[in-house]
Parts: sequence; C-alpha cells; structure tokens
Amino acid sequence: MLKELKRESFEANVALPRHGLINLTFGNASAIDRSRGMFAIKPSGVDYAALTPDDMVLVDLEGNKVEGALNPSSDTPTHRKLFLAFAGIGGVVHTHSPYATAWAAHGLAIPCVLTALADEFGGDIPVGPFARIGGEEIGVGIVATLAEHRSRAVLMRSHGVFTIGADAREALKAAVMCEDAARTALLARTLGELPRLPQEDIDALYDRYQNIYGQR
Ligand SMILES: [Zn+2]
Repeated sequence: MLKELKRESFEANVALPRHGLINLTFGNASAIDRSRGMFAIKPSGVDYAALTPDDMVLVDLEGNKVEGALNPSSDTPTHRKLFLAFAGIGGVVHTHSPYATAWAAHGLAIPCVLTALADEFGGDIPVGPFARIGGEEIGVGIVATLAEHRSRAVLMRSHGVFTIGADAREALKAAVMCEDAARTALLARTLGELPRLPQEDIDALYDRYQNIYGQR
C-alpha cells in the first residue's frame, strides 16, 4: 500500500546520513498522504544502511500502525502532532545535527545573519522549550514555537532539530540548510557579535526566494 509515499519517506531518511545530519539510527523523516490520512515513517532503531522502502511504517492520524513489519520511530507521536497542527505540510524531519544542536544546547536561536537564513526561514531559527522525549509535550512545544515564526525549522532546547515542509524533500532541505547556517553562524560568532540583517532585507529576501527563485 502507498508505495510512492513509502519511497518518498525512504529517500528522505537515507539522505540524512548522506548529508552528515545523523549518526547510527538517530533521526527520522516522514511523508504524509493527506487523502488517505496516513504517513510513512522510519522504523524504530534500524540502521540506515539496511533500510529499504518496504521497511517504512504506515501510521494513521490517530497514531495507529496500519502497515509494516517493524515498529515505527519513537518520535512518531511528534510527527503525528505536526501533521495534525499544520494542514499544509507534507513532510517532517528530525535530526540531532551537531552544529544546530550546539545552539539548541545553549537555548539560543540562530539569528538571521545570512541571506540563506532569510531565504529559507524568513528570519531567526527559533528555539522551542525543553521537553522530555516520549510524551506529547515535545510536539506541543514545536507547534507553539513554529506557529509564531515563518521558520520551517525549530531547535528544541537541549535536544535537536525538527523541520517541516511541503513534502519530505522540502523538510529534508530545511534540515540541511539549518545545519549549514548553524555552522556558518557559529564560525561567524567567533569573530564577534553577530549582526542581524535589517528586517526589510529579510522580508525582501524571503519573498524573492519563496516566490521568484528557481525554475518556475
Ligand atoms: Zn531526537
């Protein structure tokens, strides 16, 4: 069932180690089929090298496993919460990518000091509250934080990165760009205080990138 959806989820998951965003079995990506009300997510604790598209677990929006031989990722309740809260999204990615998580460890937002940050995130990448893993708390914290920002990425305090996108590929792109910006901003910070871009430039860059950039 839903072979294309599983493929989309699989492709985003195996791209995580390729982009240096995760180690071992950590991290996960999911993709949703809104018409069926189901999402495909990485199984829990399976090595990326051994993963196949058929290993992706189908879960409905009530949180029930619909199909799959393996148990879904332990972050499944958080993905479900995001799909329910943001009707326009088609994919979710979660990583502990090191540079972004370094900012999260200090509870620091990544200030919008680069055009790439303005383009992709429309401002700072915000920090969400600390939440213990396993409950609803983490999803609630992500939703509350993202609802107040244009950013598709959030740094969850002392934990890691969650990103959303129109599909799993877009969520993956946000995770890659978040880590890239986190690294550059950290390097820049060693040279002195970070100068945030003026708001009118951020708005103009965001508008151009979201509406004009690329092959349309
Ligand atoms: Zn995590």
